[in-house]
Amino acid sequence: MSRVYNFSAGPAVLPEEVLKEAAEEMLDYRGCGMSVMEMSHRSKMFQQIIDEAEQDLRDLMNIPDNYKVMFLQGGASLVFAQVPMNLMKNGKAAYIITGQWAKKAAAEAEKYGEVVRVASSADKTFSYIPDCSDLDIPEDADYVYICENNTIYGTKYKELPNTKGHILVSDVSSCFLSEPIDVSKYGVVYGGVQKNVGPAGVQIVIVREDLIADGPAVAQTPTMCDWKIQADNKSLYNTPPCYGIYICGKVFKWIKKMGGLEGMKAHNEKKAAILYDFLDQSKLFKGTVEKKDRSLMNVPFVTGDADLDAKFVAEAKAAGFENLKGHRTVGGMRASIYNAMPIEGVEKLVAFMKKFEEENTK
Ligand SMILES: *Cc1c(COP(=O)(O)O)cnc(C)c1O
Repeated sequence: MSRVYNFSAGPAVLPEEVLKEAAEEMLDYRGCGMSVMEMSHRSKMFQQIIDEAEQDLRDLMNIPDNYKVMFLQGGASLVFAQVPMNLMKNGKAAYIITGQWAKKAAAEAEKYGEVVRVASSADKTFSYIPDCSDLDIPEDADYVYICENNTIYGTKYKELPNTKGHILVSDVSSCFLSEPIDVSKYGVVYGGVQKNVGPAGVQIVIVREDLIADGPAVAQTPTMCDWKIQADNKSLYNTPPCYGIYICGKVFKWIKKMGGLEGMKAHNEKKAAILYDFLDQSKLFKGTVEKKDRSLMNVPFVTGDADLDAKFVAEAKAAGFENLKGHRTVGGMRASIYNAMPIEGVEKLVAFMKKFEEENTK
């Protein structure tokens, strides 16, 4: 067996330990004679899996008791619609546009009400996070929406926007559990798990309970998108993505073992520094993002020559570094170095980049 270093933006690398454990439990989960894929979601065995997953997530993120945690389906893209359906009581919301995912979320919300785009970094290909200290947020906006880590462009909010008293809704898909956050500063924190937490098919939504107490804002909201119903049923209104939740639960335990979110942050900062420090002194490669807004998770870079970029991606692949091609809208390269990417993976990538640089500069 040989495993590559997988720099995919998502679905992405998972901890090897978790995969091994899941493999061991595949045929016979803890003596019950079947796999987690085969058991009833109403069984005691599965109830224990989902309860433990929720508790471990609550411990890791220090989630206050007045927040509900839901394990749902449909990807982060379905949450783009769930947010306005559940929260747009005045029919108006403010969106900060820092990339494709925020753009898509805003476009989706527009189907349900008025969207005011209060800031954007589109003018410089989303290579920075706009100043959000004094935005013109409509008084009657139901919430302010951000995409906290921009997977495609490699930017991250280092400070949350000043929402001027409005609820903050944040898509943390690509920075989920990468460092501690203060959940109490948000109305909603959500993400698809396939970037940093588990297999595609699960999305985690953490929502302050008073925001959903009266049910959705939009009367025609499908039952499956109704956060009150989902929360009241503890993610078991219908069959949840059982196997995915089970793997997420294992990842939560792995993160606990790694020192919780403080431990993850230190691990991620160390990894990112290795790559950014190299980029900052390289004669061939350069990062594409304003330094102050750099993501710890997604690191885009270019040589400035599309042919050389393609050559790099091909040679890297042959050397066991997978999925380094940049997003189709940006070009160049992108290394996603999520929680489960070992330090050694980044060190070896940088050594490979150095060698490539020597071979390709005169
Ligand atoms: C990948 C991604 C999405 C879309 O996720 P799906 O689960 O494919 O819908 C949304 N937001 C961010 C920040 C992402 O990285």
